[in-house]
Amino acid sequence: MTLTVTPIPLFKDNYAWLLRDSGSGATAVVDPADAGPVEAAIEAAGGRLDLILLTHHHADHVGGTDAVRARYGASVVGAAADAHRLPKLDRAVREGDTVGLGNAVGSVIDTPGHTLGHIAFHFPDGPALFCGDTLFSLGCGRLIEGTAAQMFASLKKLAALPPDTLVYCGHEYTESNARFAVTAEPGNAALQARAAEVGRLRAAGRSTVPSLLAEELAANPFMRAATAERLGEIRAAKDRF
Ligand code: ZN
Ligand code: FE
Repeated sequence: MTLTVTPIPLFKDNYAWLLRDSGSGATAVVDPADAGPVEAAIEAAGGRLDLILLTHHHADHVGGTDAVRARYGASVVGAAADAHRLPKLDRAVREGDTVGLGNAVGSVIDTPGHTLGHIAFHFPDGPALFCGDTLFSLGCGRLIEGTAAQMFASLKKLAALPPDTLVYCGHEYTESNARFAVTAEPGNAALQARAAEVGRLRAAGRSTVPSLLAEELAANPFMRAATAERLGEIRAAKDRF
């Protein structure tokens, strides 16, 4: 494994992620929403930043981008589809494009649903998935712009990645997601085990992210929805929960 990933907790429950290719020292940050803590993490890791990767345009993901870029001269990568409402991009990417970080290579996956231009980055070297507000542990993002059918298709793409992929999502929402999930799928033993683990981790003040993709496939009702209609039903129920 050449890619190391460090969480940067931001605001109340956001995560930015610091990625470092250990062979070359090349460093990237995903969703640097708050420049102060992100710059502190970069300094602690050696003061180098090559790339800024943006999952979607919401301020709680992109807010610190311009300040961080100005300080380090890093290259900003985001969705071509949302270039008009993202911070200034040095590179606008589409599904199937790749981003190099030293010896590690990430691929871009279109994941509309939460927003229309949402993308995820998959690094087989982690193996790591940076999925912003598309897939959460035991949950998925709200359908702010997209449809249930779009989110269903996006989650299916993520579900097809290798099951040992670590899921680095954008929020520590797992405990509240678990409370809803057990009502959506009451007979799921894997979900009950994960919910209990999450309760123990949070009670100890620990993070529940990243999770393993295999765990999400076994326990996350949104990943497990058999149809877009079912996904739409449980997403609407979660909005009211
Ligand atoms: Zn968002
Ligand atoms: Fe968010």
